[in-house]
Amino acid sequence: MSNEVDAKTARERAKAIAEQRRAERRNRKRKCVVCGVEESDKTPFHAHPEGIGPACKDEVACLTRKNAGGR
Ligand SMILES: [Zn+2]
Repeated sequence: MSNEVDAKTARERAKAIAEQRRAERRNRKRKCVVCGVEESDKTPFHAHPEGIGPACKDEVACLTRKNAGGR
């Protein structure tokens, strides 16, 4: 039955697309909700304790950056 094959192919394709989107989201740079720096090896993130989003793991460096940034 070609219909079954088509349905399976469509399902597989949808799964592949969903996976690709997930991978893209993972690769996209996150920004710290406090100081706005991009996540990198130098500035690893963790979940902000107040639950407002991703923030620098190094809070001291983060606040220093925030204060230096002014805006
Ligand atoms: Zn930060």
